[in-house]
Amino acid sequence: MSVILSNYKKPEQANYYRPSNLPQARNPVYQKEVSLGCKFCVDKPGRKKIYHTLYSLHHHFTHEHSKEPSYRDISIRIADLIIEGTIL
Ligand SMILES: [Zn+2]
Repeated sequence: MSVILSNYKKPEQANYYRPSNLPQARNPVYQKEVSLGCKFCVDKPGRKKIYHTLYSLHHHFTHEHSKEPSYRDISIRIADLIIEGTIL
């Protein structure tokens, strides 16, 4: 026997995508338009890639620099700077 829960919505889900510093694709802070570069790719030759949302930079971190222990912390720190208005 199965129960269909598709129409059931928890009350807290209405505010699920509130701005926060946590890396989530639908977090408005991570979708804000900014210009960011990757600190791990600075020394690589070739044209420097610019990431226009923090989520795209975070996505790059998770795929290219997942062995760097601090990449998630970097994303969270940048999110804090966006929230406090240092990065516009
Ligand atoms: Zn990189």
